[in-house]
Amino acid sequence: MEFTLDIALVRQILAQEYGRAREDIGRLGPLPALEGSARRHDEQIASAPDVNTLACRSGCTWCCHFTVDVRPAEVFRILDFVSQSLSTDEQERVYAEVRENSRVIGLLAESERATLNLKCPLLSQGQCVVYAARPQSCRNYHATDVAGCQRSYEEPDNLDIDPEFAPGVYQAGGAHVEAFSNAMRDAGYDERAYELNSALNVALSQAQARERFLAKKLPFVGLSGEEVDTQFDDLA
Ligand code: SF4
Repeated sequence: MEFTLDIALVRQILAQEYGRAREDIGRLGPLPALEGSARRHDEQIASAPDVNTLACRSGCTWCCHFTVDVRPAEVFRILDFVSQSLSTDEQERVYAEVRENSRVIGLLAESERATLNLKCPLLSQGQCVVYAARPQSCRNYHATDVAGCQRSYEEPDNLDIDPEFAPGVYQAGGAHVEAFSNAMRDAGYDERAYELNSALNVALSQAQARERFLAKKLPFVGLSGEEVDTQFDDLA
């Protein structure tokens, strides 16, 4: 789907969020900074001119079966939310599903993983149990037609499906995430993207992972993340 980039708006979001995030990361640390950025992220999307065209609704969960990328700060924020907000039984369910999904993913080749519909361990009875702490990639969904998401679920091998989306939401959310990521990276923190289940599993099993992250080292021993290409780099 083609659209016209609102260069002035993207530049404004990149500059504003980068400055705010750098200040918060330095003053408060990366995890509180992420929390503040997530609040601004939601506000940014809510004020996009085409936000009312979004098809995303509570209870619609097609995208919660696709691969989710997370950054280390998001992994620790999710784990904090799980331990502080969910019942003991629900925590055990989440941890068990994380372990089982990681085991399944570990048996697959990269190409097979990309086309596997695997229920997110944080999805329960049609709801995200960490909604307030969900990753940026989940906050950024911008579909305007449920049929496209459903088709992607039903035909996971079909990479030609190109669901309709809201360009204003896409640009606002994308620029916001990119600005925060740039600020984290420039402050020295790992901003590689990791697969959600694998990263949660390693963070749960490696007691020093958080300490390594906060010391600006690679947090997850034995798990490789990917440097994410910047979309709006030439506008920053
Ligand atoms: S974290 Fe929440 S919103 Fe994201 S895929 Fe999992 S259940 Fe869905």
